[in-house]
Amino acid sequence: MANIVAIVGRPNVGKSTLFNRLVGERKAIMDNVSGVTRDRHYGYGEWCGKFYTVIDTGGYVHGSDDIFEGEIRKQVELAIKEATVILFMVDVDAGLTGLDEEFADVLRRTDKPVFIVANKADTNLRAHLAGEFYALGLGDNIFPISSANGSGTGDLLDEVVKHFQTEDPENPDEGVPKIAVLGRPNVGKSSFVNLLLGEERNIVTDVAGTTRDSIHSRYNAFGNEFIIIDTAGLRRKTKVHEDIEFYSVLRSIRALEESDICIVMIDATRGLEAQDVNIIGLADKNRKGIVILVNKWDLIENKATNTMKEIEEQIREKLAPMTYMPIIFTSVLTKQRVHKAIETAVQVYQNKTQKIPTSKLNDVILKEIEAYPPPAIKGKFVKIKYVTQLPTHNPTFAFFCNSPQYIRESYTRFLENKIRKHFGFEGVPINVIYRKK
Ligand code: GDP
Ligand code: GDP
Repeated sequence: MANIVAIVGRPNVGKSTLFNRLVGERKAIMDNVSGVTRDRHYGYGEWCGKFYTVIDTGGYVHGSDDIFEGEIRKQVELAIKEATVILFMVDVDAGLTGLDEEFADVLRRTDKPVFIVANKADTNLRAHLAGEFYALGLGDNIFPISSANGSGTGDLLDEVVKHFQTEDPENPDEGVPKIAVLGRPNVGKSSFVNLLLGEERNIVTDVAGTTRDSIHSRYNAFGNEFIIIDTAGLRRKTKVHEDIEFYSVLRSIRALEESDICIVMIDATRGLEAQDVNIIGLADKNRKGIVILVNKWDLIENKATNTMKEIEEQIREKLAPMTYMPIIFTSVLTKQRVHKAIETAVQVYQNKTQKIPTSKLNDVILKEIEAYPPPAIKGKFVKIKYVTQLPTHNPTFAFFCNSPQYIRESYTRFLENKIRKHFGFEGVPINVIYRKK
């Protein structure tokens, strides 16, 4: 069990401001046009060498259409279920409200430590106003703070960490693949993610009715740990139609950028469409691992032995030269190969993060180069001396040679293919670069 600090409270008291302060980043996106949206649900904080997870519960259930009743219930349920310590945030500027009292009514029923965080106490004068919140009947753990300028947060954290039971790692998500599920409307993204939701999960779960850009949910399904960046099922309640399309594309791009691996779902009955090629191209350009799911496989009638192979070849032809990604035929409806889809995505992540020892790389690749050296151009011979994988985030191979400018694109492709063939980079875009030696 990790140390989890959950922030609850009515809208606008400053929960996301505190969240950002605790996790040390200011990434929350305020979208004034269509209601507040946020980039993250949970993050990691540290105080005096103690690490913890922060959940901004409000981030799950925000949205102008939410009924407060529902909001309170969901936030508080989540906090009571998951948290080690609950920070109940109120606003000294606005004073005690009826909605605060409704939160307090529910919070009085938990045994978990509840701290009243009296926010917007930007000045001493305002801090004195925090006394008003004794009336909530939740004890004397009242901390006047200013999320905006940070005052009071240290005193609060001093007390919070006293309730921690475990020594958490600095970043529990490190090495856990972040997977974005992308694809056109109706291909089955939400169905896919919902099927996974049915599996065992841990730490942070999403709550229905979210209106956000993306949800990061951590899963432990089919024996694999991973984080799904989910944009599916998040449909903004907007009246303007262009907006829906615009936002759905924007959300996909954001999810793609945040991910390590993109699962791109296409519809078996429609085949690979122009938009699919665009999103795969974008993933390739951003150096993400890619897995293609051809979903709704159950709808393809009269399947022959070769049908899968034929469709796969058609897809690869359209994607050329991006032909390195695994293609899996799934039916989320009948649960066919859903397990395999996740396993493959995790495998692609491992492929993407592997580091090939230089000696091994040279043993194999220099032989290939010897058998098929770079063709001479204008009488110039290129001599490749050695190759090494750079310590970069995305697999990058540097070939040291005398005249890099004489190497042709086709030869680069050859080297790429040989690296793939020998070292298992399925699903991973790789970079080949040349250095003069
Ligand atoms: P949430 O809806 O509870 O997540 O609240 P937000 O974090 O979005 O904050 C709501 C508003 O209160 C924003 O305009 C913030 O800038 C403002 N705010 C947050 N914390 C403070 C604070 O400590 N002092 C003051 N003066 N304003 C704050
Ligand atoms: P999203 O818009 O990509 O999130 O797609 P949904 O998950 O909402 O699915 C759209 C429709 O396709 C729903 O009616 C699903 O029940 C259906 N669907 C999803 N996966 C499959 C599948 O594998 N086979 C069939 N026949 N229908 C599916």
